[in-house]
Amino acid sequence: MDNEIDIWKDGELAQRSNDKNTQAQSKVNIRWIVFIVGVVGIVCSLIMDTSISSGDTRVSNIGLMQQQQNILIVSGLTTLIGFFMIMAKAKEIKEIVDVSDIKKCPYCAESIKIGAILCRFCGKDV
Ligand SMILES: [Zn+2]
Repeated sequence: MDNEIDIWKDGELAQRSNDKNTQAQSKVNIRWIVFIVGVVGIVCSLIMDTSISSGDTRVSNIGLMQQQQNILIVSGLTTLIGFFMIMAKAKEIKEIVDVSDIKKCPYCAESIKIGAILCRFCGKDV
């Protein structure tokens, strides 16, 4: 009976950590989508045709040029926001890696920092 309860608990824990992973994954995707949308916006505004045909010749249209400028500004900001979001995530991941900088004490098997000289649990040299 006790075993069954334990298995059920493990299952629930696994489910919870899966949810967490999925959440983190979707967050990363949103960052990249924001960044890519910004870059695509910049490219589109740069290749945008701002001239209109007037008889036999094409002339620059100030209205279209202003529109191009607006798209460029908005896209630039979107790209920057996406970029900072990606950088923030990268920093977060780096901090997690730093936290996981642990080893097991050979005497008491407790988790201690890799740089530790003395075990903080049993006080032995490691
Ligand atoms: Zn120890």
